Amino acid sequence: MKLNIALIKGDGIGPEIVDSATKVLNKVLEKYNHKVVYTELLAGGCAIDEFGIPLPQSTIDGALRSDSVLLGAVGGPKWDTLPGHLRPERALLGLRKELGLYANIRPVRLFSALKDRCPLRNVDSFDIVIVRELTGGMYFGKSGRTIGENGEEAYDTETYSVMEIERIGRTAFEYARKRRKKVTSVDKANVLESSRLWREVMHRLAKEYRDIEYGDMLVDNAAMQLIRNPLQFDVIVTSNMFGDILSDEASQLTGSIGLLPSASLGGCKRGLYEPIHGSAPDIMGKGIANPIATILSAAMMLSYSFNLDKEAKEIEDAVEAVLNQGYLTADLGGNMTTDEITEKILEQI
Ligand code: NAD
Repeated sequence: MKLNIALIKGDGIGPEIVDSATKVLNKVLEKYNHKVVYTELLAGGCAIDEFGIPLPQSTIDGALRSDSVLLGAVGGPKWDTLPGHLRPERALLGLRKELGLYANIRPVRLFSALKDRCPLRNVDSFDIVIVRELTGGMYFGKSGRTIGENGEEAYDTETYSVMEIERIGRTAFEYARKRRKKVTSVDKANVLESSRLWREVMHRLAKEYRDIEYGDMLVDNAAMQLIRNPLQFDVIVTSNMFGDILSDEASQLTGSIGLLPSASLGGCKRGLYEPIHGSAPDIMGKGIANPIATILSAAMMLSYSFNLDKEAKEIEDAVEAVLNQGYLTADLGGNMTTDEITEKILEQI
């Protein structure tokens, strides 16, 4: 197979961690006789420096021409004083919109080698995927300010259509089929009308996916259950805002933000794959960034954009083996550099 991958290295540690991930991709693709072509595109602060805007049209066009996109991270103090519409992070919203990416998939996994870094007692390992709706809900609903009886007021509205709920629901049910076949839909149906529609649609879908064990959970309970017993979950599907909050909560159970990958997917095979962390300007250029979140994002890309499940598993197993051998970067209390840990992962492939 020939893979045409767009690379958006971005700012801060972005170039360092994307370089590690492409080394790992190259090794595994060569082993299985695939060819890969990379196209480097600029977005974020580096695009502001070059073109004066965070997301140039050439980057959008390049991303749309690619089979899939791997991104490092964008942003940094250099661009913090720019007005909102010119800030590096705008590039991410623009890319999601232009590529039609409505589903954010975040695997949250505690490797058994890192169980001591989990704040929960008696949890050795767990493996959850949070499927978050990405382009609807409160973050995109009508909002504004008015003057009411008691002075100034502000409002934000949560709107979901059946179509939006159905497509994120299908993403979750299909994802669960590749895993332990369990979906928990998280909502606030005891209070919110939009959640009641969400639940109705999810129940209809659950009847179509009878091979999947399905359950509803209220978001306040879900926040509690994640801490009480994360092992009860396989795939969690939820709205934009609830997913934003629950995925950050869950990420804290795994040891380091430097381990967690993500995928943003839409109606076609092309996706945007990136670590969940930012550009870490405090450690930029020191050679100590943990590249594992980006390497695991590249593995997700192989599986979901190219159906190369065996190749993806090889990367995931290599990462796990290296962690089991006790090789850790500074964020996990070790002393391996970015290059050294990458080399160890390459040796496993
Ligand atoms: P951050 O995730 O960049 O860093 C938070 C802390 O985690 C820092 O101490 C950092 O050193 C550490 N860290 C992050 N990734 C690491 C890794 N791979 N290895 C080792 N340590 C790591 O969050 P922040 O400091 O709040 O934001 C920095 C910049 O990144 C800001 O400009 C922010 O807007 C941007 N940001 C970008 C994205 C993105 O591109 N998707 C996401 C979040 C933040």
